Amino acid sequence: MRFHNKAIAGAVTLALGLSAVTAVPAVASPTTSLGDASFTQVHIRKSYHEATLTYLNPKSIAGKLESQLGVIGWAGGRVVAPIAKNTTETSPEDGVTVLEHTDPQRKVTMKRTFTVKGDEIHVVTELTNNADEARELAIRMYNYAKPLKGTMSAAQFGDGLRGEDKSTYIVDATFPGATALAAAQEPGQLPAWDASETLSLPGRGEVLSGTWLQNVELGATLTAEMNLKVTTQFAALDSDGDGLLDIWEMQGANVNGVDMPLHRWGADPNKKDIFLQMNWMKSEWETKGCQEAARFAVDPEGFARYDACSKMNTNVYRPSGLILDQMVKKFAEHGYNLHIDAGKGYSKNFDARDDEYRGGPVLDYKDHYFNSPETSGSELITSSVELLKEREGIFRSGVIGDLMDAPSANGSVNYATGRALIGGTSFYVSKNARMGAEDKVRNTIMHELGHNLGLNHNGMLWVDGKRQSVYEWTKYGDWLDGRPSPMNYAYQFVTFSYTDKEMSGVQKEPHPGCAGDPDCYVGEWTVPSEWDNLNVKAGGIGDVSVKPVDPDNNEDKDTEQKHDIERDARELDAAAAHKNDGKADFYMADVNSIATVRTDNKVVGTIGNRGYNDHEFTVRTFYGKDLSRLAPVQKVKVKGIGDAKEAGPQSRKEIQIPILDTQRLYGSYVPVFIQIENESGEVVFSELFDISLLDYTEEELRQVSNQLGDSVLGQRASALLSQGKLGNYQDANRRDVADTKELKKPTRPSTSPAPSPTSKAPAPTTTSAPAAPTTQDPKVTGDKGLDEKTRNTILIVVGVLLGLIGLGGAAAAVMANM
Ligand SMILES: [Zn+2]
Repeated sequence: MRFHNKAIAGAVTLALGLSAVTAVPAVASPTTSLGDASFTQVHIRKSYHEATLTYLNPKSIAGKLESQLGVIGWAGGRVVAPIAKNTTETSPEDGVTVLEHTDPQRKVTMKRTFTVKGDEIHVVTELTNNADEARELAIRMYNYAKPLKGTMSAAQFGDGLRGEDKSTYIVDATFPGATALAAAQEPGQLPAWDASETLSLPGRGEVLSGTWLQNVELGATLTAEMNLKVTTQFAALDSDGDGLLDIWEMQGANVNGVDMPLHRWGADPNKKDIFLQMNWMKSEWETKGCQEAARFAVDPEGFARYDACSKMNTNVYRPSGLILDQMVKKFAEHGYNLHIDAGKGYSKNFDARDDEYRGGPVLDYKDHYFNSPETSGSELITSSVELLKEREGIFRSGVIGDLMDAPSANGSVNYATGRALIGGTSFYVSKNARMGAEDKVRNTIMHELGHNLGLNHNGMLWVDGKRQSVYEWTKYGDWLDGRPSPMNYAYQFVTFSYTDKEMSGVQKEPHPGCAGDPDCYVGEWTVPSEWDNLNVKAGGIGDVSVKPVDPDNNEDKDTEQKHDIERDARELDAAAAHKNDGKADFYMADVNSIATVRTDNKVVGTIGNRGYNDHEFTVRTFYGKDLSRLAPVQKVKVKGIGDAKEAGPQSRKEIQIPILDTQRLYGSYVPVFIQIENESGEVVFSELFDISLLDYTEEELRQVSNQLGDSVLGQRASALLSQGKLGNYQDANRRDVADTKELKKPTRPSTSPAPSPTSKAPAPTTTSAPAAPTTQDPKVTGDKGLDEKTRNTILIVVGVLLGLIGLGGAAAAVMANM
């Protein structure tokens, strides 16, 4: 059923407002019906006084409620025996069972009619006096509920009784016309059949009973009636089955004393919510504080620092805002509410107060994340505990960083793309040198998050909520043709969305990705819908008292260890090459810097062709504090991957981007925005890097060089002063030449709509642009660089400008750098 929020809030207050035991209002309960909640099993046996009932509400986290429903008759003070062979059982209609028997010794006929309807059971007991005189007959009916945890307290309302466990269930039993009512912890504690019972409160309410006692004429019948109804407490209700209680989603949760206002963060009690905290490493360059200096001091220490920063890796691990948006949207299309905390100003579908954000670049750079592949499972758990803290049990943790493992003894590097706990709450994405493309990062996040949600490469841990055997979720292996999903290695770098229906096919021969491996699947396959079988509760979400699984104790350890390592990005590229013509990735070389005294500066990186065929890419580079300058546009032809088993050096090419115009650059770094377009004009890569800058004047450099003398650093400083030392570019325009060319900033069209992202970028204007004043004056004194906020504002403005002139992809990426 669907609750109106306001109505629920009121009802919750009511349900929680009841103190230990007080009189309950005469209304049966604050909830009238609970959708699928029902008695799923009713065992009525001829030879027993008691029937066994099982009540289950699939929307409750409280589990099932077992109870015994007892019916006892007395004639002249002696118990009427249930005698199986004398008993007839009929079912006049669906859900109705009638048992009738005659006890010749007690001289009575007993008829019990059970009517089961959803979450209610109605029982009518008739006891007919067959003796030749009037006698005292009695009927007692009771329900004995056994909650899995907690205790039931009793309360009375009119001719009814309520047994209630605050965190799980309410049992309401009415006994119209009963002579006496009683409640107890066990049936044995009920008063004698003929006692004039009074309910003493407060007391236990596991057993709720009514007794009818009457002098019955010859041939007459004593009739007793009981109505039983079970209700799930709101405190135990998880209507959408996402593991997060409705009450948390409506009023917030308090975990270990810390408030988590899920309702304010966007939770919906009727929609499956997934909270994901995304953290990533700062670049090595940032970790070492290279962006902090206003400018490098003009002394040996300052130069040494510049020298060190120029050798730092400046590749960034932040996911673009665009791909986070795409993920949220994709989950929403399939009915899931994905909330990503990626830090302030960057989060998606997660509306928090400024002090509540936890996502973002909180981790320092490490060249490999895990101590060893063998311990990586436990490390995933400990790192998520550290990052999530009290959020554990509500959030999942995703981390993006560089390589996962140290190079092996023989020097080989593992470019595997990620690692995740299958059915857990923690994953890692390796944005290594072969992952410099946002769709690779996005699809890999989907892959690893998919593992957390119970998906395997071509199967899943749970189907229709039922746990599968290891055989079931691993039998089709890791590579299948014709099943497009980011979970399937054959499509990880191709397809973004999980599958939304059951798919079948035949793998006629081993997939090239695994050919030769013993578990490379060949044959027919059928894989259920992935979107329909995500287990958003997996890993103890919602159960804050449950610790994550210990991977060392896991029955599926071997399989999971094997499957959570993931394949090398180079193999995934090769597997996807046929579908990726025209796509590229990019990796910035580790050593890069710009010195304003020179005009032959360049930044160096590597383009990877992700397609099968050779392709010519266009590289545009914008740089400067406001990204207003454009480096000479380059056309780069890169060989395709072809039939290679992995994308090796043959499909990669180093490029040198000349940064010729360094006039008026100042500070300790220069933002450099690199954008790669393919032959159709589509932007296939865009990213912002910060490159260390030495803004010394020639005079200053000479001075520091002299101070450093003939040391290694001194040699580097004097090398900067010598002509043509840095590279092959023409060294015609020294910094002191007056006639420097300043690029004209793109002018902002006032009304024209933004062109489509695939439209051609403007032609390079390097040589023909007339000189125009920049917005910033050269500043060589040590004033503070732009603060982060100003910088972000500038980036947004630039983003809008780029968007308007047709570089949609660039605009999105720049916007995402907030
Ligand atoms: Zn995997």
